Amino acid sequence: MPAQDLVIARPEGLYCPPGDFYIDPWQPVDRAVITHAHADHARRGNTAYLAAAPAEGVLRARLGEDIRLQALPYGETIDHFGVRVSLHPAGHVLGSAQVRLEHEGRVWVASGDYYVAGATDDPREDNATCAPFEPVRCDCFITESTFGLPIYRWAPQRELFADIDRWWSANAAAGRASLLMGYSFGKAQRILAGVDPSIGPIVVHGAVEPLNRAYRAAGVALPPTRLVTEVNDKSELRRALVIAPPSVQNSTWARRFGDASDAFASGWMQLRGARRRRAVDRGFVLSDHADWPGLQRAIGATGAQRVIVTHGYESVMVRWLTEQGLEAGAFSTEYGDEKEEREEAQTALVAEQTIAPASDP
Ligand SMILES: [Zn+2]
Ligand SMILES: [Zn+2]
Repeated sequence: MPAQDLVIARPEGLYCPPGDFYIDPWQPVDRAVITHAHADHARRGNTAYLAAAPAEGVLRARLGEDIRLQALPYGETIDHFGVRVSLHPAGHVLGSAQVRLEHEGRVWVASGDYYVAGATDDPREDNATCAPFEPVRCDCFITESTFGLPIYRWAPQRELFADIDRWWSANAAAGRASLLMGYSFGKAQRILAGVDPSIGPIVVHGAVEPLNRAYRAAGVALPPTRLVTEVNDKSELRRALVIAPPSVQNSTWARRFGDASDAFASGWMQLRGARRRRAVDRGFVLSDHADWPGLQRAIGATGAQRVIVTHGYESVMVRWLTEQGLEAGAFSTEYGDEKEEREEAQTALVAEQTIAPASDP
């Protein structure tokens, strides 16, 4: 009889049968292991939660101080119904974890969302706001595929942050605020940790600051930030870098910065069509997910002979994995914190491929 799979897809979420618990369930369950605190992976209503220790602050901030949460330090093992469970850094956001499961000699890893640089092991390419991705050897690896297409290749992040610094400096010199939009949890802190704070003041939206607080409380170094209401000398705003969630675009909140230059930071900015649709002055390609080479490198480092693909470009990844001689399949999940954007990007991608280059300046 073939050995039982350590993770299967159930209507409530990814389920570990011998351990009788779920990983990032999308419906309320008794026991939930949470890979990270993004809304599509960490949902309310579960009876008991297990997550990596550095995730505790952000998880409680998002799901409520009173959730029943066991915070497990990275690398420590607990035994649950004969399944040895440990959590390992995923490099995605503060406290993000891969879940390692060991049962009767077999090892599976469910990696949630993860970020690892594609081309190099240079530590300067790590996400500076959380523990870097740790390759974990396993028999079966469950991988995301948010950017699982060969067109997604991130430039070295130091080049990217130098680009952002240049844009901010030029705006500051011209007396224009620099409004940079990106997700409040993860992206905003990554920008903060990467830019040069000597260029000017940094102002953040009210949705961003509570997360900054959680990051600082966890020991992550971020430059000083102020809320717009805390800036008394309004002329300072004209030299400021303003970090805010995408929802502020064209809002009254954003209009107070007057003739600001606006920009968007996302992996989808790699696509010209997505940039145009956003209608911002600049698109910075910055993602907290692995690009295509990063996914390949991460998968290779696990030594897994079997790979199960979740949220993103499942069919492309499965085809590629099969060509590598691996056993590959997919789980359909309800993850995708960037679902709308993926659909938007998909439309842009199809348009780019069908429109003749001449008509697309
Ligand atoms: Zn995520
Ligand atoms: Zn996700």
